[in-house]
Amino acid sequence: MQGIQNKNVLITGASSGIGQAIAIRLAAEGANVAVNYYSDQSGAETTRAKIQTHYQQQQLTSAKTAIYQADVADRHAVNQMFSWMKQEFGSVDVLINNAGIQTESPSHETDADSFQKVLATNLNGTYFCAIEAIQGFLDRHYAGVIINVSSVHEIIPRPQYLSYAVSKGGVDSLTETLALEYAKHRIRVNAIGPGATKTPINDWSDEANKLDELAQHIPMGRVGTPEEMAAAVAFLISDEASYITGQTLFIDGGLTLYPS
Ligand code: NAD
Repeated sequence: MQGIQNKNVLITGASSGIGQAIAIRLAAEGANVAVNYYSDQSGAETTRAKIQTHYQQQQLTSAKTAIYQADVADRHAVNQMFSWMKQEFGSVDVLINNAGIQTESPSHETDADSFQKVLATNLNGTYFCAIEAIQGFLDRHYAGVIINVSSVHEIIPRPQYLSYAVSKGGVDSLTETLALEYAKHRIRVNAIGPGATKTPINDWSDEANKLDELAQHIPMGRVGTPEEMAAAVAFLISDEASYITGQTLFIDGGLTLYPS
């Protein structure tokens, strides 16, 4: 896709799942990809190795990738990560806010620390990274792009996952507000809203039953793949989406079409 090659892209939580698939897809499109991870260094190294394979296959000899450990919920660590990006890559041209966690418990039994932790990662982390990226875009008068990996649960309630649903509702508001505020600077801010996707965030220990149960609620009758999420991200950051801002693109096999 046009407009991705040679861009410096930072992807949070890219050591597994959707973040890893986005990293690999954007590398295949010729982007320079910085892989943020939190605790899974070996996953981040796997992402980096797969990226390098794509660079070699496509003879992208000047393309560059690197991994960086940071907790997106830590304001200072995020600031350090953006300083590192400037040193290593020269700039952040595209930010993908993908890092996320979830916890399951009856809402009235959820303790405050657990609630705060989900908000701190999913919402504060998205906010910390977004404002760092925007400051960099403004300093360079650069038409940068931010993609937030939200969820269908930014609009669909999710019993027993209160903190998760609240955090993604916040990400929706953050996406729209930043898009409106910085549109005059040609900065675009969009989100993807995945439906059920087979990644480590969900417990697949009882995989066959889980897939059956989920599929009953999905009009297309199956869960999504990380690669399908990554394809939408590639579109949204490309020149093909140059007039799209403030939107969440749901990639959910029709799940959000059900009346709530
Ligand atoms: P995943 O668990 O594979 O990915 C989440 C990543 O975030 C992991 O690599 C994890 O290490 C990282 N992370 C967690 N806390 C972090 C922190 N404090 N700092 C930096 N990184 C941190 O699961 P996934 O499904 O690929 O999730 C990616 C995103 O997709 C999340 O935001 C999630 O909410 C969203 N999502 C997933 C689904 C699904 O069904 N899998 C559906 C909708 C939305």
